[in-house]
Amino acid sequence: MGQLQKILIPFLGLVLAFWFYSARENFKPEMLKGKRVIVTGASTGIGEQMAYHLARMGSHILITARTEAKLQKVVERCLELGAASARYVSGTMEDMAFAERVVREAEISLGGLDMLILNHIGTSYFDFFNGDVGHVRKLLEINFLSYVAMTTSALPMLKESEGSIVVVSSMAGKVGFPFTAPYSATKFALDGFFSSLRQEFSIKSINVSITLCILGFIDTESAVRAAADLLRVSPAPREECALEILRAAALRRRELYYRYGFTRLPLLLRDWAAELLDFVVRSCYRLDGLESGRSPAPLRHPTGPGAAPAQHPALPAEPGPAAGPGLPR
Ligand code: NAP
Repeated sequence: MGQLQKILIPFLGLVLAFWFYSARENFKPEMLKGKRVIVTGASTGIGEQMAYHLARMGSHILITARTEAKLQKVVERCLELGAASARYVSGTMEDMAFAERVVREAEISLGGLDMLILNHIGTSYFDFFNGDVGHVRKLLEINFLSYVAMTTSALPMLKESEGSIVVVSSMAGKVGFPFTAPYSATKFALDGFFSSLRQEFSIKSINVSITLCILGFIDTESAVRAAADLLRVSPAPREECALEILRAAALRRRELYYRYGFTRLPLLLRDWAAELLDFVVRSCYRLDGLESGRSPAPLRHPTGPGAAPAQHPALPAEPGPAAGPGLPR
Protein backbone atom coordinates (compact mmCIF):
# COMPACT_ATOMS: atom_id res chain seq x y z
CA MET A 1 0.00 0.00 0.00
CA GLY A 2 2.84 2.35 1.04
CA GLN A 3 4.68 1.52 -2.17
CA LEU A 4 1.53 2.13 -4.21
CA GLN A 5 1.03 5.54 -2.59
CA LYS A 6 4.63 6.45 -3.37
CA ILE A 7 4.00 5.83 -7.05
CA LEU A 8 0.38 6.89 -7.32
CA ILE A 9 0.58 10.28 -5.64
CA PRO A 10 3.49 11.66 -7.73
CA PHE A 11 1.88 10.19 -10.86
CA LEU A 12 -1.42 11.91 -10.10
CA GLY A 13 0.50 15.12 -9.35
CA LEU A 14 2.19 14.90 -12.75
CA VAL A 15 -1.09 14.28 -14.54
CA LEU A 16 -2.72 17.24 -12.78
CA ALA A 17 0.26 19.51 -13.47
CA PHE A 18 0.24 18.50 -17.15
CA TRP A 19 -3.50 19.11 -17.41
CA PHE A 20 -3.25 22.46 -15.63
CA TYR A 21 -0.42 23.80 -17.76
CA SER A 22 -1.53 22.39 -21.08
CA ALA A 23 -5.05 23.75 -20.49
CA ARG A 24 -3.56 27.18 -19.93
CA GLU A 25 -1.14 27.09 -22.82
CA ASN A 26 -0.17 30.62 -23.60
CA PHE A 27 -2.95 32.41 -25.35
CA LYS A 28 -2.09 35.94 -26.31
CA PRO A 29 -4.63 38.35 -27.79
CA GLU A 30 -1.98 39.29 -30.39
CA MET A 31 -2.55 35.85 -31.92
CA LEU A 32 -5.75 37.22 -33.42
CA LYS A 33 -4.46 40.67 -34.33
CA GLY A 34 -4.95 41.35 -38.02
CA LYS A 35 -6.70 37.99 -38.57
CA ARG A 36 -9.62 37.92 -40.99
CA VAL A 37 -12.59 36.37 -39.21
CA ILE A 38 -16.21 35.57 -40.10
CA VAL A 39 -18.61 35.27 -37.15
CA THR A 40 -22.13 34.03 -37.90
CA GLY A 41 -25.08 34.74 -35.61
CA ALA A 42 -23.27 37.81 -34.33
CA SER A 43 -26.18 40.23 -33.92
CA THR A 44 -26.77 39.03 -30.34
CA GLY A 45 -25.58 36.63 -27.68
CA ILE A 46 -22.29 34.78 -27.78
CA GLY A 47 -21.62 35.73 -31.41
CA GLU A 48 -21.93 39.43 -30.58
CA GLN A 49 -19.51 39.02 -27.67
CA MET A 50 -17.02 37.18 -29.88
CA ALA A 51 -17.15 40.11 -32.30
CA TYR A 52 -16.33 42.55 -29.48
CA HIS A 53 -13.42 40.44 -28.22
CA LEU A 54 -12.05 40.15 -31.76
CA ALA A 55 -12.41 43.90 -32.17
CA ARG A 56 -10.36 44.54 -29.01
CA MET A 57 -7.72 42.18 -30.37
CA GLY A 58 -7.53 44.11 -33.63
CA SER A 59 -8.99 41.55 -36.04
CA HIS A 60 -10.75 42.17 -39.35
CA ILE A 61 -14.33 41.13 -38.71
CA LEU A 62 -17.17 40.13 -40.99
CA ILE A 63 -20.38 39.40 -39.11
CA THR A 64 -23.70 38.05 -40.27
CA ALA A 65 -27.27 37.38 -39.05
CA ARG A 66 -30.73 38.38 -40.31
CA THR A 67 -31.41 41.61 -38.42
CA GLU A 68 -29.61 44.42 -40.21
CA ALA A 69 -30.23 47.10 -37.57
CA LYS A 70 -28.57 45.00 -34.87
CA LEU A 71 -25.65 44.10 -37.11
CA GLN A 72 -25.06 47.79 -37.85
CA LYS A 73 -24.83 48.54 -34.14
CA VAL A 74 -22.44 45.66 -33.52
CA VAL A 75 -20.21 46.84 -36.37
CA GLU A 76 -20.17 50.39 -34.97
CA ARG A 77 -19.21 49.09 -31.54
CA CYS A 78 -16.49 46.87 -33.04
CA LEU A 79 -14.94 49.88 -34.75
CA GLU A 80 -15.02 51.85 -31.48
CA LEU A 81 -13.30 48.94 -29.72
CA GLY A 82 -10.41 48.89 -32.18
CA ALA A 83 -11.26 46.38 -34.91
CA ALA A 84 -8.86 46.55 -37.86
CA SER A 85 -12.05 46.60 -39.93
CA ALA A 86 -15.66 45.56 -39.39
CA ARG A 87 -18.50 44.91 -41.80
CA TYR A 88 -21.68 42.87 -42.00
CA VAL A 89 -23.82 40.95 -44.46
CA SER A 90 -27.44 40.36 -43.49
CA GLY A 91 -29.55 37.43 -44.61
CA THR A 92 -30.89 34.05 -43.60
CA MET A 93 -28.94 30.84 -43.37
CA GLU A 94 -31.99 28.96 -44.60
CA ASP A 95 -30.65 29.95 -47.99
CA MET A 96 -27.45 28.11 -48.92
CA ALA A 97 -26.72 30.68 -51.63
CA PHE A 98 -26.64 33.32 -48.89
CA ALA A 99 -24.27 31.18 -46.79
CA GLU A 100 -21.89 30.99 -49.75
CA ARG A 101 -22.30 34.72 -50.45
CA VAL A 102 -21.03 35.57 -46.95
CA VAL A 103 -17.83 33.66 -47.68
CA ARG A 104 -17.44 35.35 -51.08
CA GLU A 105 -17.83 38.71 -49.35
CA ALA A 106 -14.84 37.84 -47.14
CA GLU A 107 -12.82 36.96 -50.22
CA ILE A 108 -13.69 40.23 -51.92
CA SER A 109 -13.45 42.60 -48.97
CA LEU A 110 -10.77 40.93 -46.82
CA GLY A 111 -8.78 39.20 -49.54
CA GLY A 112 -8.88 35.87 -47.70
CA LEU A 113 -9.92 34.25 -44.46
CA ASP A 114 -8.12 33.04 -41.34
CA MET A 115 -11.01 31.92 -39.16
CA LEU A 116 -14.57 30.83 -39.83
CA ILE A 117 -16.73 30.89 -36.70
CA LEU A 118 -20.02 29.04 -37.22
CA ASN A 119 -22.36 30.03 -34.42
CA HIS A 120 -25.90 30.85 -35.65
CA ILE A 121 -28.97 28.75 -34.91
CA GLY A 122 -32.53 28.86 -36.23
CA THR A 123 -35.77 28.99 -34.31
CA SER A 124 -37.12 25.85 -32.73
CA TYR A 125 -39.47 24.91 -29.92
CA PHE A 126 -38.92 23.54 -26.46
CA ASP A 127 -41.36 20.72 -26.01
CA PHE A 128 -42.01 17.05 -26.61
CA PHE A 129 -41.21 16.23 -30.23
CA ASN A 130 -44.31 17.25 -32.18
CA GLY A 131 -43.78 15.06 -35.23
CA ASP A 132 -43.15 17.99 -37.56
CA VAL A 133 -40.63 16.54 -39.98
CA GLY A 134 -40.61 19.74 -42.04
CA HIS A 135 -39.36 21.66 -39.02
CA VAL A 136 -36.53 19.18 -38.47
CA ARG A 137 -35.54 19.56 -42.11
CA LYS A 138 -35.59 23.36 -41.91
CA LEU A 139 -33.55 23.38 -38.72
CA LEU A 140 -31.04 20.99 -40.25
CA GLU A 141 -30.64 23.43 -43.12
CA ILE A 142 -29.98 26.39 -40.85
CA ASN A 143 -28.01 24.75 -38.04
CA PHE A 144 -26.14 22.16 -40.06
CA LEU A 145 -26.22 22.40 -43.86
CA SER A 146 -25.37 26.10 -43.93
CA TYR A 147 -22.31 25.26 -41.77
CA VAL A 148 -21.31 22.67 -44.36
CA ALA A 149 -21.94 25.09 -47.24
CA MET A 150 -19.86 27.85 -45.64
CA THR A 151 -17.05 25.45 -44.80
CA THR A 152 -16.97 24.13 -48.35
CA SER A 153 -16.81 27.64 -49.82
CA ALA A 154 -14.25 28.84 -47.30
CA LEU A 155 -11.91 25.86 -47.51
CA PRO A 156 -9.66 27.10 -50.33
CA MET A 157 -9.03 30.35 -48.40
CA LEU A 158 -8.55 28.52 -45.10
CA LYS A 159 -6.09 26.09 -46.68
CA GLU A 160 -4.11 28.99 -48.01
CA SER A 161 -3.98 30.77 -44.65
CA GLU A 162 -3.67 27.50 -42.65
CA GLY A 163 -6.62 28.84 -40.75
CA SER A 164 -9.32 27.57 -38.41
CA ILE A 165 -12.93 26.46 -38.38
CA VAL A 166 -14.84 26.96 -35.15
CA VAL A 167 -18.13 25.11 -34.69
CA VAL A 168 -20.30 26.25 -31.80
CA SER A 169 -22.25 23.30 -30.47
CA SER A 170 -23.86 22.30 -27.22
CA MET A 171 -24.13 19.61 -24.58
CA ALA A 172 -27.29 18.75 -26.52
CA GLY A 173 -24.96 17.73 -29.35
CA LYS A 174 -23.20 15.16 -27.18
CA VAL A 175 -26.00 13.72 -25.08
CA GLY A 176 -29.78 13.52 -25.45
CA PHE A 177 -31.62 16.35 -23.72
CA PRO A 178 -35.40 16.18 -23.49
CA PHE A 179 -37.59 18.68 -25.40
CA THR A 180 -34.93 19.56 -27.95
CA ALA A 181 -35.08 16.65 -30.41
CA PRO A 182 -34.79 18.73 -33.63
CA TYR A 183 -32.12 21.06 -32.18
CA SER A 184 -30.20 18.17 -30.67
CA ALA A 185 -30.22 16.32 -34.01
CA THR A 186 -28.60 19.30 -35.73
CA LYS A 187 -25.89 19.57 -33.07
CA PHE A 188 -25.10 15.84 -33.21
CA ALA A 189 -24.85 16.18 -36.99
CA LEU A 190 -22.21 18.89 -36.56
CA ASP A 191 -20.10 16.60 -34.39
CA GLY A 192 -20.32 13.76 -36.91
CA PHE A 193 -19.52 15.90 -39.92
CA PHE A 194 -16.72 18.01 -38.49
CA SER A 195 -15.06 15.16 -36.57
CA SER A 196 -14.98 13.17 -39.79
CA LEU A 197 -13.63 16.15 -41.70
CA ARG A 198 -10.89 16.59 -39.10
CA GLN A 199 -9.77 13.01 -39.73
CA GLU A 200 -9.65 13.66 -43.47
CA PHE A 201 -7.63 16.85 -42.97
CA SER A 202 -5.20 14.83 -40.93
CA ILE A 203 -4.89 12.11 -43.61
CA LYS A 204 -4.38 14.73 -46.33
CA SER A 205 -2.08 16.90 -44.16
CA ILE A 206 -4.39 19.86 -44.50
CA ASN A 207 -3.38 22.33 -41.84
CA VAL A 208 -6.82 23.74 -41.02
CA SER A 209 -7.87 23.27 -37.41
CA ILE A 210 -11.42 22.40 -36.37
CA THR A 211 -12.56 23.36 -32.88
CA LEU A 212 -15.88 21.96 -31.73
CA CYS A 213 -17.29 23.96 -28.80
CA ILE A 214 -19.48 22.08 -26.35
CA LEU A 215 -21.32 24.70 -24.34
CA GLY A 216 -23.51 24.38 -21.28
CA PHE A 217 -26.07 26.96 -20.23
CA ILE A 218 -24.86 30.49 -21.07
CA ASP A 219 -26.44 33.75 -19.96
CA THR A 220 -27.41 35.11 -23.35
CA GLU A 221 -30.45 37.34 -22.99
CA SER A 222 -32.77 34.89 -24.65
CA ALA A 223 -31.41 31.81 -22.93
CA VAL A 224 -31.77 33.31 -19.47
CA ARG A 225 -35.36 34.35 -20.10
CA ALA A 226 -36.20 30.92 -21.42
CA ALA A 227 -34.48 28.94 -18.72
CA ALA A 228 -35.20 30.84 -15.53
CA ASP A 229 -38.09 28.53 -14.66
CA LEU A 230 -36.78 25.43 -16.36
CA LEU A 231 -33.20 24.72 -15.42
CA ARG A 232 -31.78 24.16 -11.99
CA VAL A 233 -28.29 25.26 -13.05
CA SER A 234 -27.13 28.86 -13.25
CA PRO A 235 -25.83 30.22 -16.53
CA ALA A 236 -22.21 31.04 -17.28
CA PRO A 237 -21.29 34.53 -18.53
CA ARG A 238 -21.46 35.00 -22.29
CA GLU A 239 -18.46 37.36 -22.39
CA GLU A 240 -16.25 34.73 -20.77
CA CYS A 241 -17.74 32.01 -22.95
CA ALA A 242 -16.98 34.03 -26.08
CA LEU A 243 -13.39 34.58 -24.97
CA GLU A 244 -12.92 30.89 -24.19
CA ILE A 245 -14.13 30.00 -27.67
CA LEU A 246 -11.62 32.39 -29.25
CA ARG A 247 -8.85 31.14 -27.02
CA ALA A 248 -9.56 27.51 -27.95
CA ALA A 249 -9.70 28.51 -31.61
CA ALA A 250 -6.42 30.45 -31.50
CA LEU A 251 -4.74 27.50 -29.78
CA ARG A 252 -6.21 25.19 -32.44
CA ARG A 253 -7.87 22.98 -29.86
CA ARG A 254 -9.86 20.00 -31.03
CA GLU A 255 -12.74 20.63 -28.59
CA LEU A 256 -13.73 23.17 -26.00
CA TYR A 257 -15.90 22.31 -23.02
CA TYR A 258 -17.39 25.35 -21.33
CA ARG A 259 -17.89 25.36 -18.42
CA TYR A 260 -15.74 22.33 -17.95
CA GLY A 261 -17.33 21.11 -14.72
CA PHE A 262 -20.85 21.21 -16.18
CA THR A 263 -19.97 19.70 -19.55
CA ARG A 264 -16.84 17.55 -19.73
CA LEU A 265 -17.20 15.94 -16.33
CA PRO A 266 -20.80 14.71 -16.74
CA LEU A 267 -19.90 13.44 -20.22
CA LEU A 268 -17.34 11.11 -18.66
CA LEU A 269 -20.36 9.05 -17.56
CA ARG A 270 -21.64 8.66 -21.10
CA ASP A 271 -19.86 5.49 -22.14
CA TRP A 272 -19.91 3.69 -18.82
CA ALA A 273 -23.12 4.79 -17.14
CA ALA A 274 -25.37 6.21 -19.84
CA GLU A 275 -28.55 5.76 -17.83
CA LEU A 276 -27.03 7.57 -14.89
CA LEU A 277 -26.10 10.44 -17.18
CA ASP A 278 -29.65 10.49 -18.59
CA PHE A 279 -30.94 10.71 -15.03
CA VAL A 280 -28.51 13.54 -14.21
CA VAL A 281 -29.67 15.44 -17.32
CA ARG A 282 -33.35 15.01 -16.44
CA SER A 283 -32.71 16.13 -12.90
CA CYS A 284 -31.46 19.49 -14.23
CA TYR A 285 -35.01 20.32 -15.33
CA ARG A 286 -38.01 21.45 -13.37
CA LEU A 287 -40.65 19.42 -15.13
CA ASP A 288 -43.74 20.81 -13.38
CA GLY A 289 -44.70 23.11 -16.27
CA LEU A 290 -44.33 20.52 -18.98
CA GLU A 291 -47.26 18.16 -19.13
CA SER A 292 -47.10 15.13 -21.36
CA GLY A 293 -49.69 15.19 -24.12
CA ARG A 294 -50.07 18.96 -24.15
CA SER A 295 -50.33 20.27 -27.69
CA PRO A 296 -47.02 21.82 -28.68
CA ALA A 297 -47.00 25.42 -29.79
CA PRO A 298 -44.26 27.42 -31.47
CA LEU A 299 -42.66 28.63 -28.26
CA ARG A 300 -42.38 31.50 -26.57
CA HIS A 301 -42.64 32.12 -22.88
CA PRO A 302 -41.07 30.19 -20.08
CA THR A 303 -43.15 27.66 -18.29
CA GLY A 304 -45.86 27.99 -15.77
CA PRO A 305 -49.27 26.41 -16.09
CA GLY A 306 -51.06 27.67 -19.14
CA ALA A 307 -47.95 29.27 -20.56
CA ALA A 308 -46.88 28.59 -24.10
CA PRO A 309 -44.08 26.05 -24.31
CA ALA A 310 -40.75 27.63 -23.64
CA GLN A 311 -37.94 27.59 -26.12
CA HIS A 312 -34.72 25.88 -25.26
CA PRO A 313 -32.13 28.29 -23.90
CA ALA A 314 -29.86 27.58 -26.79
CA LEU A 315 -32.54 28.10 -29.41
CA PRO A 316 -33.26 31.56 -30.76
CA ALA A 317 -36.66 33.02 -31.41
CA GLU A 318 -37.70 34.73 -34.60
CA PRO A 319 -36.86 38.41 -34.57
CA GLY A 320 -39.47 41.11 -34.71
CA PRO A 321 -42.85 41.52 -33.12
CA ALA A 322 -43.68 37.82 -33.11
CA ALA A 323 -40.95 37.23 -30.56
CA GLY A 324 -41.10 40.57 -28.82
CA PRO A 325 -39.01 41.78 -25.96
CA GLY A 326 -38.92 39.52 -22.98
CA LEU A 327 -39.54 36.39 -24.97
CA PRO A 328 -37.18 33.49 -24.58
CA ARG A 329 -34.92 32.10 -27.23
P1 NAP B 1 -28.68 33.84 -29.71
O1 NAP B 1 -28.33 34.91 -28.76
O2 NAP B 1 -30.09 33.40 -29.77
O3 NAP B 1 -28.17 34.28 -31.17
C1 NAP B 1 -28.47 33.54 -32.31
C2 NAP B 1 -27.92 34.26 -33.50
O4 NAP B 1 -28.29 33.56 -34.69
C3 NAP B 1 -28.46 35.67 -33.62
O5 NAP B 1 -27.46 36.52 -34.07
C4 NAP B 1 -29.55 35.52 -34.67
O6 NAP B 1 -29.72 36.77 -35.31
C5 NAP B 1 -28.92 34.46 -35.60
N1 NAP B 1 -29.93 33.74 -36.40
C6 NAP B 1 -31.11 33.22 -36.00
N2 NAP B 1 -31.75 32.65 -37.02
C7 NAP B 1 -30.97 32.83 -38.12
C8 NAP B 1 -31.11 32.50 -39.49
N3 NAP B 1 -32.19 31.85 -39.96
N4 NAP B 1 -30.13 32.85 -40.35
C9 NAP B 1 -29.03 33.51 -39.90
N5 NAP B 1 -28.84 33.85 -38.61
C10 NAP B 1 -29.80 33.52 -37.73
O7 NAP B 1 -27.86 32.49 -29.47
P2 NAP B 1 -26.74 32.20 -28.39
O8 NAP B 1 -27.42 31.85 -27.12
O9 NAP B 1 -25.73 33.29 -28.41
O10 NAP B 1 -26.13 30.85 -29.00
C11 NAP B 1 -25.03 30.92 -29.89
C12 NAP B 1 -24.51 29.50 -30.13
O11 NAP B 1 -24.21 28.89 -28.86
C13 NAP B 1 -25.52 28.58 -30.81
O12 NAP B 1 -24.86 27.76 -31.74
C14 NAP B 1 -26.09 27.75 -29.67
O13 NAP B 1 -26.54 26.48 -30.09
C15 NAP B 1 -24.85 27.64 -28.78
N6 NAP B 1 -25.23 27.36 -27.40
C16 NAP B 1 -25.82 28.32 -26.62
C17 NAP B 1 -26.20 28.01 -25.31
C18 NAP B 1 -26.86 29.03 -24.40
O14 NAP B 1 -27.26 28.66 -23.28
N7 NAP B 1 -26.95 30.30 -24.78
C19 NAP B 1 -26.00 26.72 -24.82
C20 NAP B 1 -25.40 25.77 -25.64
C21 NAP B 1 -25.00 26.10 -26.93
P3 NAP B 1 -31.02 37.19 -36.13
O15 NAP B 1 -32.20 36.80 -35.31
O16 NAP B 1 -30.84 38.65 -36.33
O17 NAP B 1 -30.92 36.44 -37.41
